[in-house]
Amino acid sequence: MGIAEATAPTNALQRSLSRIGRLSDCTVCLDTGFWLTPKGKVWDCPNVMLGKPHVAENKAGQIVRRSAERLLLLGEEIISQEFQLAQMLTRVDGEEPCPRSIPIRFFYGDTNLTSAHSLRKLHSMIENLRKKWLLPIGGRKAEPSGYWVITELEEYKQWYRSVTSAPITQLSTIHKNAKHNFPHFAEQMELEFWRDLEPEAND
Ligand SMILES: [Zn+2]
Repeated sequence: MGIAEATAPTNALQRSLSRIGRLSDCTVCLDTGFWLTPKGKVWDCPNVMLGKPHVAENKAGQIVRRSAERLLLLGEEIISQEFQLAQMLTRVDGEEPCPRSIPIRFFYGDTNLTSAHSLRKLHSMIENLRKKWLLPIGGRKAEPSGYWVITELEEYKQWYRSVTSAPITQLSTIHKNAKHNFPHFAEQMELEFWRDLEPEAND
């Protein structure tokens, strides 16, 4: 059975994770309780099925598993790198997220990609996890920086506010600047802003 082959990449992953002091007990599933079989199915971890002592599945793991099962129901193929990244992010949380350097080293460490290229590829995987997988992946640029799977509504709201605050701050700066230099245009901006905010009002 393909457990040995599947264990090889997770061992490397585990070594990467051990760098942030989060070594998992199970080398097959990283303590998530499920794994991606060589045939692309999401199954219970073989160690769970063998009845071996196993860490209980955590909330982030349940969220990832549900997303993976949804993809399979939709007939989508699960890309193993995306699966591994999602699993990796169940091992951390908002207080101690996974620094970008860890997945970058894990996925692209042995390639000739430049650091900018690796970063772009990681961003695109994260975007896939949010867009295609519909996973609530939090990300933070300020310290402690990194990514994680959000499990609580309050945390989600906080993250939403943090991602939307940047453009709104910019917009507010632009608005103030416009008001000072081109007051009529600033009024127009306000009108456009409210019109975009209330699409139903035009129906
Ligand atoms: Zn396991």
